[in-house]
Amino acid sequence: PTLDQRQGNSTDSEYSSPILRVAVAGPFFEALDYLPPPGIHRAALRSGLRLLVPLGRRRQVGVLIGFAEASAHPPERLKAIECLLDPAPLFGELDLALLSWAAAYYQQTLGEVLFAALPGPLRKPGPLPEPTRPGVRLTEAGWMLDPKALHRAPRQHALLEILRHAPQGLALSDLKSQIGELGSILRALRAKGLIAEVELPAAPEGPQVFHPAPGPCLTPEQAAAVQEVQASWGRFQAFLLEGVTGSGKTEVYIRLAEAAIARGQQVLLIVPEIALTPQLYSRLQTRLPGPIAVLHSALPERERFNNWLNAARGSARLILGTRSAVLAPIPRLGLILVDEEHDDSFKQQEGLRYSGRDLAVRRAQLLGCPVVLGSATPSLETLRNAELRRYAWLRLTERAGGARPPELALLDIRNQPLAAGLAPRLRAEIATEINAGNQVLLFLNRRGYAPVLTCHSCGWVGECPHCDARLTLHLADHRLWCHHCGWSCPFPERCPACGGLDLRMLGRGTERLEDELSRLFPEAQIARLDRDSTRRRGALERVLDAARRGEVQILLGTQMLAKGHHLPRVTLVGILELDQAFYAPDFRAAERAAQLIVQVAGRAGRAERPGRVVLQTRHPEHPLLQSLLREGYLGFARAALAERAEAALPPFSHLALLRAEGPELEQAMGFLQQARALGERLGAEPASVLLLGPVPAPMERRAGRHRAQLLLQCARRPLLQRFLRDWMPQVRALPCRQGLRWSIDVDPRDL
Ligand code: ADP
Ligand code: ZN
Ligand code: ZN
Repeated sequence: PTLDQRQGNSTDSEYSSPILRVAVAGPFFEALDYLPPPGIHRAALRSGLRLLVPLGRRRQVGVLIGFAEASAHPPERLKAIECLLDPAPLFGELDLALLSWAAAYYQQTLGEVLFAALPGPLRKPGPLPEPTRPGVRLTEAGWMLDPKALHRAPRQHALLEILRHAPQGLALSDLKSQIGELGSILRALRAKGLIAEVELPAAPEGPQVFHPAPGPCLTPEQAAAVQEVQASWGRFQAFLLEGVTGSGKTEVYIRLAEAAIARGQQVLLIVPEIALTPQLYSRLQTRLPGPIAVLHSALPERERFNNWLNAARGSARLILGTRSAVLAPIPRLGLILVDEEHDDSFKQQEGLRYSGRDLAVRRAQLLGCPVVLGSATPSLETLRNAELRRYAWLRLTERAGGARPPELALLDIRNQPLAAGLAPRLRAEIATEINAGNQVLLFLNRRGYAPVLTCHSCGWVGECPHCDARLTLHLADHRLWCHHCGWSCPFPERCPACGGLDLRMLGRGTERLEDELSRLFPEAQIARLDRDSTRRRGALERVLDAARRGEVQILLGTQMLAKGHHLPRVTLVGILELDQAFYAPDFRAAERAAQLIVQVAGRAGRAERPGRVVLQTRHPEHPLLQSLLREGYLGFARAALAERAEAALPPFSHLALLRAEGPELEQAMGFLQQARALGERLGAEPASVLLLGPVPAPMERRAGRHRAQLLLQCARRPLLQRFLRDWMPQVRALPCRQGLRWSIDVDPRDL
C-alpha cells in the first residue's frame, strides 16, 4: 500500500482488501494476518486502531497497520480479530510508516517498536481509558470534623474549607494554584484520615486563552536562521543549528515553533534530559500559545498518558520530550527540533536500541517537514552531513546580549605539587576570583569519594565480585559501591586479604574534592552537583538557584554541570582529569571529552565578566587538545574527522555490534563465532561488510555475566542494512545455550 498523506485515513481500495495486517507484541518481525470480525463494517477498520486479537490460546493487543489482498497462509488457518478497542485510530499512516522503518532498520520486532511507542495503559487489553487527574476529597471523618479542631493548623484548615465546597473532590493541580505547596498539608490530613485520594476527569480541552510574552529582537544571525528554516516549510530539509551556549538557539526554536503553531501545525522538540533543564519548560510556557505536552519516562504514568493523548489527538501544540517522544503519534506535525543533538542520551542502550535523533531526521523525511539539529558542539556525524551539504548549516557565532565567549587555557600539571588535585596556579586563580566576589566552577567527572581503596601492606585492591571493575568509596554512607552493577558493601575496617589496618584511598571523586576544597578555602561556600547530591527531588534546582543568587562561591560537579544551565556569575572554570580521554581505547572518547570541555566552558561568563577556562593536563602536546585550544571545537572536529577518515571509523563507515553474554565467556564467544561463520557464508556482495571479532567486551565481566562482541563494519549504510537483513534471520535461528543472552545494536555508541 502506498503512503496516504492524510494521517489516520485509509484509502477506499484498502477497505476492499480482505486481510488485516496486525502488529502484535511478541517475537514477530512481520505483521500477522487476520480476518475482519463478522458484523463490523469495513469502513470502521482503519489502520492505527488498536485491536484485540486471538494469539494461540491467549488474546493480545495489536495495532492494525494495513491491509492485504491475500495471505501466505491458507484461509482456513486465519482467525478473525476479536474486537476494536478504540473508536478512532491512534496512529496515522506516517506514524506507522516510521515505526515499521525503525523496526527494520534497528532489527527489532515490530511489536517491540509499537509497544515502545504506546503508553502503558494502552498496552493492556481494554477500551481507551479516559484520561484522569489525581485529586483529593473529604472522607467521612473529614466531613464530620469540627472545623475549630484545626485552629492550630491554619493551612490544613483552609484546605478542608475548600474541599467542603467540592463534594466530588478537587484536582491537586487546582488546589496547588489556590494554596501553594501542598505536600506536607496533604500528608498531615491523610495521616489523620480526613482526606482520601480520588481520580477526577481530566480538564476538558477547551480553547484556552494564552498571552505569550513578547521575545527579544532577533540578532541578524538568528533572523537569518529562522528565515532559512521557514523557507523550507512543508518539505524535508535537515538543518544543523550550530551555536555556542548562550548564542540564542533556544530563541530560534521558539520563533520557529511560534510560526509553525500559527500555521496550525504541531511541533516536536526533543531534548536529552528534561530533568536537567528545568527552566526550558517554563520558558516555553511563557512564550508559546500552548498547550504543551511533556513526554518523558520520569513522569507518573497517568500524566504521561494524558500528555500522549493530547499529542495524538492534536490538541497539544508543542510536544516537549526525551528520545521516546519521537515515536509518539502527532497528527499535524510540521516541525521537528532536536536540542543538544550530539548528546549520547538520545541513543537508547537497551531493549529497543535506537537513536532518537536519527529517527527524528527520518521522521521529518517521511513527513516532508524541516528538522533542526541544534548544538554548540555538533556530533562528528552531523558535522560531516553539514560539510557534505546534506544538512543546511546555520551558525550563530555571537552570544546573544553581547556576552564574550570564555578563553581556554591549558595548564601543564606535570611535576606540579597538587593539592585537592589542583596545581598551584589554579589554586591561586580560584582564590583571586572568590576574593573578587566571583564564582568558580570545577569539573571532575567522577562521583564518590575515591575510585580505589588499597591495602598498603599487601597491595589488595577493592574490586566488585561481579564485574571487572574497582569499587568506589562513598563516605556519605560509608560503603564501597560498584558504579557498574550497583553492588555495594560496608567499608572494611581491615584489609580483607591480610587483615592489615593501613587501608589507603587513591584518586579523587567529587565527594573528596568537596571535602578537600572546604579545607583549602575555608571561607568559601561550596556546592556539589552530581548524581548523589541531587538524588532528592528539587535538590538540583535548589543548588542552581543558590548559585545564580550568588550564595555559592565554588560549584563543583560531574557532567551534570555541562547541561543547559547558564551561570553568569562564573568567571573561572577549572577542568580536572579529563585528558585521559584523549588516549582512551573508545574511539569516541576524545569527541565526548571535547564536547564536555566546551559545554562546561559555556556555563561561564557574560558581557562584563568574560570567563576563563583552565584545563589541567599531563598531555599538553596532544594534537587534538592543541587543535581544540587553538581553533576551538570546529578545529578539533576537523582534526578528529581526519583521524576517523584514516581509520575508516564512523562517520566514514557504519557499524553494528552483535553482543552476547552468558554465565561463561566460552558460551558468548561460541555463539558469536557461529554468527560470524554464518556471515562469512553469505557470499560475494556482503564481503564489503567486515566482521571483526568476536572479542571479549572491554569490561568482560559485568554483574556476574561474561560478555563478548562481534563488530560489523561497512563503508556504505545500505550495504550494511542489506547484510543485516540477510544475516539476522539466520542468527536468530541459531540454537541458544541456556543462560545466553544476545542483542544487535545498529549504529552503536559504545563499543
Ligand atoms: P542557547 O539556547 O543557544 O543557549 P538562548 O536562546 O537560551 O541560547 O539565549 C541565551 C540568553 O540570551 C537567554 O537569556 C535569552 O533570553 C537571551 N537571548 C536570546 N536571543 C536574544 C536576542 N536576540 N536578544 C537579546 N537576548 C537574547
Ligand atoms: Zn592487605
Ligand atoms: Zn559490579
